[in-house]
Amino acid sequence: MPGEFELIARYFQRDLSGAPGVLLGPGDDCALLAAGDGMQLAISVDTSVAGVHFPPDAPASSIGHRALAVNLSDLAAMGATPRWALLALTLPEVNEDWLHGFAAGFHALAERHGIALVGGDVTRGPLSITITVHGELPLVLEDAGHPDSVSRPILRRDGAREGDLVVITGAPGMAHAGLKAWQSGTRDVLDPCLAAYLRPEPRVEAGLALRQLASAGLDVSDGVMGDLAHICRASQLSAALELGELPLAPELMAALGEQGAREAVLNGGDDYELLLTMPEEHLESAINALRPLNLSLSVIGRMQAVEGSEPRVILEQEGVEQAAAGRSWQHFPPADATEVSS
Ligand code: ADP
Ligand code: MG
Repeated sequence: MPGEFELIARYFQRDLSGAPGVLLGPGDDCALLAAGDGMQLAISVDTSVAGVHFPPDAPASSIGHRALAVNLSDLAAMGATPRWALLALTLPEVNEDWLHGFAAGFHALAERHGIALVGGDVTRGPLSITITVHGELPLVLEDAGHPDSVSRPILRRDGAREGDLVVITGAPGMAHAGLKAWQSGTRDVLDPCLAAYLRPEPRVEAGLALRQLASAGLDVSDGVMGDLAHICRASQLSAALELGELPLAPELMAALGEQGAREAVLNGGDDYELLLTMPEEHLESAINALRPLNLSLSVIGRMQAVEGSEPRVILEQEGVEQAAAGRSWQHFPPADATEVSS
């Protein structure tokens, strides 16, 4: 049985000599990091708890992948380049098979996105994974002469303007279907919905490609309705969502039917697509920017002025508001901590 330090060395220490900005990696009291000139740091931390955010019996490599993916997704949502990660791991026991799988899933995704694991912690207790990620983005994001250029960075939630399009990357909803499949006993990790749940793909390159074009954005982790409402509140605007424009992946339709697929997009969680607003004249450039990534971009609505007292998300079908839509589409509540979800 390896001791704590051997375990860290065996599973988590990597050669970081090529990693940008890493002056000192794991092994000392702190890591030492240097941000590039003219860059600002984007920092985020997320905890994944077994039985709350992921099924404890999920494949260890998926747990490692997923725990990092949800963090990388936050960097993607700011249009930041991933740089450095810290991993605080709480383990019920030292199970080397499990650790091997976990580390493989973690490192494979980390390498793909060029994020260096520069430190962390290992403790004993119920399985839980806390990851802090650091990304870099330019300090001045727009024309330096623009008065707002430093104070209003790209891809914040509060930058949407009236008339902006609401767009979403990829095929949301699949992860929700995947969670349901897992809960009903499916263990075929090649099932596309289950794969979307267990191994979500953080949209890091998309965030980088779109940060100049989008006015606001976030990563969707709790369904389009709830997450678009965050943009609405931050930007003090409402949004009209067209039901008929929601992208419904064939695999999602096959798993849940059309109605279920819509619900999964609107209120399902765990997808980590990017939900953005942008001026209509940027749409073509945005679609072209995502083409090399093989990633689609769907226009699903438009930002509009607030009528009444509060910003809200209005569901429309062919332009007609759906009566009591907020209820009728809420057949299952947004993710909460009582079920396995995030
Ligand atoms: P301290 O006693 O200062 O908290 P630790 O004994 O927890 O230090 O860790 C020793 C070194 O190993 C530190 O540099 C720490 O960042 C690193 N480390 C610990 N756990 C991990 C991990 N899971 N992944 C990467 N580095 C780790
Ligand atoms: Mg420690």
